[in-house]
Amino acid sequence: PKYVYDFTEGNKDLKDLLGGKGANLAEMTNLDLPVPPGFTITTEACRHYLGHGGMPDGLDGEVAAHLADLESRMRKRLGDSDDPLLVSVRSGAKFSMPGMMETVLNIGLNDDSVLGLAKQSGNERFAWDSYRRLIQMFGKTVLDIDGDLFERAIDELKGDREDTDLEAADLQRLVETYKGIVRSQSGRDFPTDPREQMDLAIRAVFDSWNAPRAVLYRRQERIPSGLGTAVNVVAMVFGNLGADSGTGVAFTRDPGSGQRGVYGDYLQNAQGEDVVAGIRNTVPLQELEKIDTAAYHELLEIMATLEGHYRDLCDIEFTVERGKLWMLQTRVGKRTAEAAFRIAIQLVDEGLIGMAEAVTRVTGDQLAQLMFPRFATGEDNRRLTTGMNASPGAAVGKAVFTSARAVELAARGEDVILVRRETNPDDLSGMIAAKGVLTSRGGKTSHAAVVARGMGKTCVCGAEELEVDVSARRFTTPDGTVVEEGDVVSIDGGNGAVYLGEVPVVASPVVEYFEGRRPENELVAAVDRIMAHADSVRALAVRANADTPEDAARARRFGAQGIGLCRTEHMFLGDRRRLVEDLILATTPEERQAALDALEPLQTADFTGLFEAMDGLPVTIRLIDPPLHEFLPDLTDLSVRVALAGDRAGDEARDKDRRLLEAVKRLHEQNPMLGLRGVRLGLAIPGLFAMQVRAIATAAGRTGARHAEIMIPLVGAVQELEIVREEAQAILAEMGVDALIGTMIEVPRAALTAGQIAEAAQFFSFGTNDLTQMTWGFSRDDVESAFFGKYLDLGIFGVSPFESIDRDGVGRLMRIAAEEGRRTRPGLKLGICGEHGGDPDSVHFCHEIGLDYVSCSPFRVPVARLEAGRATL
Ligand code: ADP
Ligand code: MG
Ligand code: MG
Repeated sequence: PKYVYDFTEGNKDLKDLLGGKGANLAEMTNLDLPVPPGFTITTEACRHYLGHGGMPDGLDGEVAAHLADLESRMRKRLGDSDDPLLVSVRSGAKFSMPGMMETVLNIGLNDDSVLGLAKQSGNERFAWDSYRRLIQMFGKTVLDIDGDLFERAIDELKGDREDTDLEAADLQRLVETYKGIVRSQSGRDFPTDPREQMDLAIRAVFDSWNAPRAVLYRRQERIPSGLGTAVNVVAMVFGNLGADSGTGVAFTRDPGSGQRGVYGDYLQNAQGEDVVAGIRNTVPLQELEKIDTAAYHELLEIMATLEGHYRDLCDIEFTVERGKLWMLQTRVGKRTAEAAFRIAIQLVDEGLIGMAEAVTRVTGDQLAQLMFPRFATGEDNRRLTTGMNASPGAAVGKAVFTSARAVELAARGEDVILVRRETNPDDLSGMIAAKGVLTSRGGKTSHAAVVARGMGKTCVCGAEELEVDVSARRFTTPDGTVVEEGDVVSIDGGNGAVYLGEVPVVASPVVEYFEGRRPENELVAAVDRIMAHADSVRALAVRANADTPEDAARARRFGAQGIGLCRTEHMFLGDRRRLVEDLILATTPEERQAALDALEPLQTADFTGLFEAMDGLPVTIRLIDPPLHEFLPDLTDLSVRVALAGDRAGDEARDKDRRLLEAVKRLHEQNPMLGLRGVRLGLAIPGLFAMQVRAIATAAGRTGARHAEIMIPLVGAVQELEIVREEAQAILAEMGVDALIGTMIEVPRAALTAGQIAEAAQFFSFGTNDLTQMTWGFSRDDVESAFFGKYLDLGIFGVSPFESIDRDGVGRLMRIAAEEGRRTRPGLKLGICGEHGGDPDSVHFCHEIGLDYVSCSPFRVPVARLEAGRATL
């Protein structure tokens, strides 16, 4: 294979082979932009080098040929003692890994060529400055010498001067010092042979692919570890030649807000590294207009060309050498969520892209970010510390240090922030009660982080500067501020900030827009147009999981086209527990029926409210799912109560407690998730499902709802479904109400026998929470905190299968069920109601396997709409 490409040979679509930097340098070269000449060694060469522990055959010759070509074009030879060509050796992988990999500038300098460079440039200071930079970067990058040693040497020399105040003689001395550092640290002399310098740098760039920080970064960003990096060899241009030279970075629009304008930084008399390293203060790019008007205007023109060509926001690195502008890098730039939406629509209005492409330029995750409330800005003087932004949102409340206290205060209607060193499963009730969670230990996969994200709760974790003392109920900051229980704190899960006191929260304008209030602003207008287009192209309908009329109404405002899951279990809580207890304690059919008769009108009222809120849209109601003992009092509490009551006879309340205690013991299960629940419960307790079906039918009759869908949970065999269905159909027929009867597919056996089950089901809805749990054999309530962090670190999966559908396993079962179900019953309605219904990647998967709809929490409905649209493009 060909391992080396001249910049004139590549183009922007060759990122796999040339890396992003190389592909875009080639693209700019082809656009006739002023790019210093150079060539790219492919990622394939890197993969060979890393895989075989050596350079591939033929590479050396190719590099030599391209170098010779470069030399003849530049009319200089690499490291020539009279008029040296210098080059940079730059890493550049397919995905940008900022600051992770290596670059060496000024290759080709040695004790002879430095004099040639001084003579040719007429600038001795510049020549020695370039030489010391080479030894410094080469020493650090290629020879693995601690960079601080060089930093310290230059700082000592500078005293309180700026680096630009150093004179040729100073720098010449510094070169000697640096050489000494190289000798003592690496046991060898700094290599003087230019080609050897270049070859060693190329190897170092290849090796840097596997440097620990690069490995870690890739794991976090889910970049595959086998890609390798390309190497770019680029003729040097010099920003450190004096005041008429400099280097800078620029964006074609503001990556923070999307605003059009000139954004960037410029540094006079400097080389590229200096801008990022912050050794001197940069000036805003606008000032280049005064410093060098011609270069400034040429730069603006090039930025316009690049935007027009890439049809997107670009970021740019450039250098000015004695008034001549050079382009050193460009790429489509990263941006915030807000900027993404605004820029996409600006580009549509400028005629650069169409609406379809605009929809692909934004993501559901970005939309979700825009929906969180935020803190008003300008409160930084109250910031206590910054931890990790584990789960977004802005939360304000009184600091509490135990779950019990969180629950207690929340019950009184107070907002609390649960502060812990780290959380564990016992803190669940406290986390639910709190507005937000703050921990001083643990990373983004810690218990607190994982659970908070699952609940959509704001969380800042790993705020290590905080000394949390749970027993004293306070935490302390490094500057000695003490925050006691009850003191108000504010935490920002979007950026990890922790504030003392109440920072004002502003509602997201995007949520206001979805709620039907239409604030006038460019961001909202952009969201509106993008959502409209996504809706017009998507094949999937989007429904919501909603149990109450309030949730249902919000879901509709957010664009839900129906309810995909109404859980009925909450209808058995609160005051109604008493009725459930009667049901469980019933010893005769008459007693049981009496309890059911008491529940029925309450259920009817629940369903009536829901049907009214949805006004004719489809509503899927799942018959009761959890094990009944979940509705009974806690075993310990009850035992204590019974024991304290003694054994006086004839006390009715105490008798009931005794019978309840027996029932609790009788119904106790080792593995409740695999126990008496779902359809099993319906079959075990005669009349329970029938009562619910009657309530649904009555409510449907009353409201004229024509699209009620009755859903049976946890079916594993068609026989289970048939028994329930026959009874339900008889009730519906008797009451003259039309409703669909279908089932959840959440037990692996149901997926595998979907062809049979479809005989008895008018629709399937994938319950992917249970399906994931049972397919992997993971207990969802236990595994996430116990070892998912470890699994993520080990790369066993890149994302929790409870967050995003595991396509290979769980997804395969879904595919089988969809195909075989529809083979039996063409047109079988298919949906998903697990939490995955609001996860972007899972929405795409549901589109791929041809589901009719996804159902998710009301707040995620817009995200699902957008992703369903994106899935078609
Ligand atoms: P990174 O990927 O970390 O940005 P780069 O390879 O882009 O590293 O190089 C680091 C700095 O050196 C950048 O500011 C870049 O513009 C500058 N640079 C790289 N090659 C040259 C060159 N041939 N001439 C002048 N400056 C260069
Ligand atoms: Mg760069
Ligand atoms: Mg389930």
